[in-house]
Amino acid sequence: MDKPILIAGHGLAGALLAWQCERAGLDFAVADPGGGGSASLAGAGLINPITGRRLVPAWRFGEFMPCARAVYREIEAALGVPLWHELRVRRLFADAGERAAFAARHGRGGLAPHAGAADAAGFWIDGAARVDVAALLAGLRERWRRAGRWRAEAVEPVAELARHAAVIDCAGAAAARAGRLRFVAWEFAKGERLELAVDGLEAGIVLNRRQWLLPVAPGRAWVGATHEPGVVDPAPSPAARALLVAAARGLAGDARPLAVTAQHAGVRVASPDRRPAIGWHPAEPRLGLINGLGGRGALWAPMLARAWARHLAQGEPFPPECGVARFAGGASIAAGGDSSRKTGASSQA
Ligand SMILES: Cc1cc2nc3c(=O)[nH]c(=O)nc-3n(C[C@H](O)[C@H](O)[C@H](O)COP(=O)(O)OP(=O)(O)OC[C@H]3O[C@@H](n4cnc5c(N)ncnc54)[C@H](O)[C@@H]3O)c2cc1C
Repeated sequence: MDKPILIAGHGLAGALLAWQCERAGLDFAVADPGGGGSASLAGAGLINPITGRRLVPAWRFGEFMPCARAVYREIEAALGVPLWHELRVRRLFADAGERAAFAARHGRGGLAPHAGAADAAGFWIDGAARVDVAALLAGLRERWRRAGRWRAEAVEPVAELARHAAVIDCAGAAAARAGRLRFVAWEFAKGERLELAVDGLEAGIVLNRRQWLLPVAPGRAWVGATHEPGVVDPAPSPAARALLVAAARGLAGDARPLAVTAQHAGVRVASPDRRPAIGWHPAEPRLGLINGLGGRGALWAPMLARAWARHLAQGEPFPPECGVARFAGGASIAAGGDSSRKTGASSQA
């Protein structure tokens, strides 16, 4: 390639793609305006093998997790900053429905190897982790800045194609709402998280009953997350703050004093089948994307970024179950999603 690849967006997707491009010896630049509003900075970086009211084991956890652990530890060593924190989750039953869901799944062996038997209040989940996403993004941004690869600005991916070998759109909700990616029926869900000053929580244990309470340092914890399907306004709200404070009090015990020190909000993007989407735009063969990370960006992004770098460096096909080509019908790159410029399916999976 005689021109660099441009990575548009430096959330988890773009940062990890840049990391894999560096490892693969590819020439690249990264652009992001910063200024907040990213899902990655609103999120908690939690990786949990069993989530949701129906206690569904995370999709392909056994494949994604070893890659995530290896990649985050590699970046941790390169940056000299702790990023990877292994955790146990104390999952407390919210109601009889969750207790019944546990009994059914556990009885079929569907929660092994991460959950053993339940007690009266809940059960333990092993094999969870937290990635310090803010430290990861700050450390990598500085690495790209020093290497002359950083552009602190918003870019228009289609316009940038003239100056780059390829543009990989990693702009999260902003990309999913733009005309160029509207060929996928993305689903949006606003989420919020609070930072708290609170003493006496046990390190390394996440308490989880609908919301979670996560100790991150002595005297400091996070509580999250809210989930508002269809809401795309990323402004923190008083209602979410009240809900999360009540959740934190319920999990920590009402008698424990706590104070809110920060509030974050962001918008998650999910694909219609709730799996991630990577690959080339079906109407523009040099415009790529990573999106649809939903509530699993910390787990999925490392392997998706590695798949992209292997594709760019060695021509390896994308894993078909993650390929954006499954949504290709009606694709166009026109702003506003003009579907009159339909093309056939991408050559990539
Ligand atoms: C409250 C909350 C809690 C969450 N908790 C977790 C969790 O515990 N674990 C987990 O795995 N996931 C969690 N998630 C989901 C997770 O945050 C996302 O899956 C993931 O961060 C998405 O990453 P991304 O890189 O695709 O998008 P983003 O993080 O949104 O990054 C997109 C980036 O693109 C930039 N950008 C936008 N427009 C442009 C442009 N024109 N040019 C250049 N750059 C641009 C933005 O500034 C931003 O930095 C949570 C989300 C929320 C909202």
